[in-house]
Amino acid sequence: MRFFYLFLAGLVCLWGCSQSPSSTSCSWYQDNGGLKVLSTTAMIDDLVGEIGKDRVDHIPLIIGEVDPHSYELVKGDDEKLSSADLVIANGLHLEHGASLLQQLQKLPNVVFLGDAIKEKIPERILYIEGELDPHIWMDISLWAEGIDFVVAALIEKDPEYACFYQENGIALYQKMLMAHEEICSALHGIPEEKRYLVTSHDAFHYFARAYLGENGSWENRCVAPEGIAPEGRLSTQDIKRVIEHLCSHQIGVVFPESNVARSALKKIVLSCEHRGLKVHICPLPLYGDAMGAAGSCAANYLGMIRHNAEVLKGEWEK
Ligand code: FE
Repeated sequence: MRFFYLFLAGLVCLWGCSQSPSSTSCSWYQDNGGLKVLSTTAMIDDLVGEIGKDRVDHIPLIIGEVDPHSYELVKGDDEKLSSADLVIANGLHLEHGASLLQQLQKLPNVVFLGDAIKEKIPERILYIEGELDPHIWMDISLWAEGIDFVVAALIEKDPEYACFYQENGIALYQKMLMAHEEICSALHGIPEEKRYLVTSHDAFHYFARAYLGENGSWENRCVAPEGIAPEGRLSTQDIKRVIEHLCSHQIGVVFPESNVARSALKKIVLSCEHRGLKVHICPLPLYGDAMGAAGSCAANYLGMIRHNAEVLKGEWEK
């Protein structure tokens, strides 16, 4: 008899897992009846939340100050991926950690946002020293081009709410373009000779092209010791290249990124000092590959880009 009750309790638990995921450890979603959307990065998740609002139960896979380039699946991620109705990834080779990439390639319900944007407007995609640059969220006007793809993906899964998603998409597009214009004029108000951005890794080329250039020229506005992915393989040559750049443009500040170690920047600052150029590390980090912590001003996408612009402006106007 006791065995029968235990068996029954087991069945009830299993049923509970499938019917009400939020009340058990079986699911990471809230089970509010909406679409379950998993985005690889918080920046994509922000787009989904702005468009889907409370119709969509959305979570990011990569949480906190973690490098998305080399992210490998951890416990629970398989379940998050397999129980989502829709998965949205950045693509453009951002997510190249083997286990995540393998899963993304296997799933039938994945939208690669960056690849869709690249197909639509290939002329706006950057290659840095021949390598595809995946950091498209760093230019708000380019990131806004992803809205249509998110709207279309949500409508495909939830056609009844098509108008709702479309209206939210239009409103978000307008809001993003306004923010883009604001940041453009704020940063273009800074003297041209000050607008040289030295960061930890090559995440800011789209930002430099959108907000720091002058008369179409922006390529030398952004330099970093680490390449497209901050994987710590730094050569003396990488360090020397940045030091030369700082010295030739008389740049007095470098900007750390929230999720990249500062060791390379510290080395660079020290070497500049030996060469007679005083350079300091900005005390506030920029947000390149990750948004700020919950509750901070950079905890949402536009807040993140605005924070970056404000930190740069604050330092360059000193
Ligand atoms: Fe990056």
